[in-house]
Amino acid sequence: MEKVSQKKNSGERKSRAQGGEQQGQWRQKESRRTEQAEQRKNEKTRQQAQGKKKSSETSLPQCPVSRKCGGCRGFGMSYSQQLQKKAKVLEEQCGQFGKFEPIAGMKNPYHYRNKVHAVFGEDRRHNIISGIYEEGTHRIVPVDSCLLEDKKADEIIVSIRGMLKSFKIRPYNEDTGYGLFRHVLIRTGHATGEIMVVLVLASPILPSKNNFVKALLKLHPEITTIVLNVNNKDTSMILGEKETVLYGKGYIEDILLGKTFRISSRSFYQVNPVQTEKLYGTALEFAELSGEETVWDLYCGIGTISLFLAQRAKRVYGVEIVPEAVENAKENARLNGIRNAEFFCGAAEEVVPELAEGAQTGRADVVVVDPPRKGCDGVLLDTIGRMAPERIVYVSCDPGTLARDVKVLMGKGYEVRKVRACDMFGQGGHVESVCLLYRR
Ligand code: SAH
Repeated sequence: MEKVSQKKNSGERKSRAQGGEQQGQWRQKESRRTEQAEQRKNEKTRQQAQGKKKSSETSLPQCPVSRKCGGCRGFGMSYSQQLQKKAKVLEEQCGQFGKFEPIAGMKNPYHYRNKVHAVFGEDRRHNIISGIYEEGTHRIVPVDSCLLEDKKADEIIVSIRGMLKSFKIRPYNEDTGYGLFRHVLIRTGHATGEIMVVLVLASPILPSKNNFVKALLKLHPEITTIVLNVNNKDTSMILGEKETVLYGKGYIEDILLGKTFRISSRSFYQVNPVQTEKLYGTALEFAELSGEETVWDLYCGIGTISLFLAQRAKRVYGVEIVPEAVENAKENARLNGIRNAEFFCGAAEEVVPELAEGAQTGRADVVVVDPPRKGCDGVLLDTIGRMAPERIVYVSCDPGTLARDVKVLMGKGYEVRKVRACDMFGQGGHVESVCLLYRR
């Protein structure tokens, strides 16, 4: 949208400048008339062209802060153009490994984010504001609603901002260290409708805590749990380590492909539940399980992929670095009556080499990895190579590190059989894909 207004303005500037040039020039009456007619014609054509462009581009939703936020890389592009662009990125990075299946796109690429974060602060006039950090800075850009985020979550954040004034709670100031209220994090369960509100404070005391909770629940009775998280560090991390539950269970549950998952504030959970089902479906399909296999799910989070694998495998071992997520994973196995999945807490590159030595745990028929953007640690790839599973399913959120790691695995005797991408981030720039490797 920015582009439209820029173009429009520069067009206006141009015609005004032309007018100025003409003013000081003497011309014959006749030639001036012809020129004016010509100008009118040009202006009409220009307006028509602009009108056309405007109507087709304004059919895309607009966001006043898209430029400062940087969250919507695909802004100004239609969704199909975005998918084409993502396919091109994947082709550039991973085209060397063979052909891909088409990207599985979203039905509705808006308001899909089930996890919403707002930072709180003050503007120059000391009004309380909430929103996002301007890209690459710690300046707060006020935001009331976002095209990607769950609408209800955005509404709750606006309500909380309104409540701070009446409760005389000051937002935290990162420069001076004064103030209390730092962030709000909201997680919603797409299938269950459960809503968790995490209030992140600089110190553990929330004044008139009970009344605050009551007032918030009165405005939004749909909230199922409220958690107070204390972050007293000078850090860019949103959440601190200490937490108390102010209302409800302290976690939410969601349902994916018929299984229930318990999610706490600090656990990783895919932000786009509809597409997650497609992504996990692909990972499961690529694992080609018969019921006899020992499967490792590395970077397993709260055990989502692990539990689907466990249903079709003999045994599953999950490894994850965040202790709360491992607790959730164990609980999730229990909730879903799954007894053949075991979870280990620690860095995959440390835990897996140790377990790979064990007589019981050392075997792997299939290894699934789903690392963060930086990809897999070299030590882990070496260990996987030594364990020599028949198949490796690599779930990736970064085609660059996927290509890097796949090359390492190819050097260890693997070949790529399939790559399928799934769009998890409509309007965003990230490309998520699943790659199946077979031992040669
Ligand atoms: N497979 C899960 C999580 C994927 S996100 C899901 O789909 O929900 C990546 C996960 O890797 C996160 O849960 C993160 O906490 C974890 N992680 C990051 N570095 C790790 C490491 N070195 N070893 C093990 N887990 C790690």
